[in-house]
Amino acid sequence: MLSQVVQLIEQKQRFMITSHIRPDGDGLGSGLALYWMLKALDKDAEVVLHDRVPPAYHVLPGSCEVRVEEDLTDSYDAAFIIECSDVERPGLPGLKNQFVVNIDHHSTTEPFGDINWIDSTAAAVGEMIYNLCKALGVEVTREIADCIYTALLTDTGSFHFSNTTERTLKIASELVRRGVEPARISQALYYSYPFSRIKLLGMVLSNIERDSSGRVAWVTMGRDMLCDADASEEDADGIVNHALSVGDVEAVAFFKELSPGIYRVSLRSKGKTNVARVAETFGGGGHRNAAGCRVEGEFCEVKRQVIESLQTALGMTPVSA
Ligand code: 5GP
Ligand code: MN
Repeated sequence: MLSQVVQLIEQKQRFMITSHIRPDGDGLGSGLALYWMLKALDKDAEVVLHDRVPPAYHVLPGSCEVRVEEDLTDSYDAAFIIECSDVERPGLPGLKNQFVVNIDHHSTTEPFGDINWIDSTAAAVGEMIYNLCKALGVEVTREIADCIYTALLTDTGSFHFSNTTERTLKIASELVRRGVEPARISQALYYSYPFSRIKLLGMVLSNIERDSSGRVAWVTMGRDMLCDADASEEDADGIVNHALSVGDVEAVAFFKELSPGIYRVSLRSKGKTNVARVAETFGGGGHRNAAGCRVEGEFCEVKRQVIESLQTALGMTPVSA
C-alpha cells in the first residue's frame, strides 16, 4: 500500500522503474513521473523497458533517458513494476531476483510483489503516482505534471471512458495549473500520426464485421496489411476503439495476427459489459471496458470462441457470426 511505498523510498537509494512490453501512455507517463520524483529526492533512479518508447511519447520529459534492455544489468534496492499483471510482463527476467514493488490499477493483478499497491478505483496508475507525489512531499514540477497528465489522458481515452471521475478531472486541473498545455500533449499523441497509420486504419476498418444481433463487432489485421500499409504494430494501437464507435455495438474484438496461428486480441466494451473477465478466460486480463489476451489456433476457431465469449458476457445466447 501507499504508506509502504513512501517508507521504502525514504529508506532506500537505488531504484529502477519498469512497465509492460509495448509500453503505453499510463506505463510510460507514470514511470517517468516516478523517475522525476525520485530524482527530486536525490535518489538514483532509472527507467528500463524491454521495448522502445513509441515516437508519439517522445513528448514526455525524460523519455530519451529510458534504457531499452533485454534484461537487467544492474542491481537495485527496489524495482517498481508499473501496470503489470505478473512479474514476467515487463520482459526483463532478472526482475524475479529484485525486491519488487507492484503498482497497478487493474483488478485482475495478482499480488506478485514484495510490496503491492493496487487501487482498482484509480482511472490510471498516474492518479496513484500523483497521490504518491503528494505523500512524499515532492513538488509537482512541470515534468511530473506532463507525465501524469499523459497517463490520465491515455488511460481514460481522452477523458471519455467510464473510469473518468471527479478525482481524475481534479488532478488533471491541478496538473494544468502546474504548466501542462493540454493541446500540446494531444497534438503529440493524436495529431502527429505517420501516414502509414491512417492507411492501416482504412484497411482494417474496411473489413469490419458484426454478428446478427449487431451488438458484437470485430475487425481483423493480417500481417499482409502491415506490409501493404508499410506500417508497424504500433500503428494498430487505437484502431479497436473505432469499431466500438458504432451506435448499436456494445462489445468489440480486434484480432491481430502475430504469426500464423497466433493472435493478439484486444477487447473493448461499453457500459457494464466486462471484457476483462472474457480476456481472463483466454489467459489475459485488463479492465472492465478494455482488456486483451493472446490466443493460438486456427483463425476461424479463435474468432468463434472469442465472439461467443463476448456474446455470453453481454448476456446473450451465442448467435452465429
Ligand atoms: P490493449 O488491447 O490496448 O492491448 O490492452 C487493453 C488493456 O488490457 C490494457 O489495460 C492492458 O494492460 C490489458 N491487457 C492487454 N493484453 C493483456 C494480457 O495479455 N494480459 C493482461 N493481464 N492484460 C492485458
Ligand atoms: Mn493503466
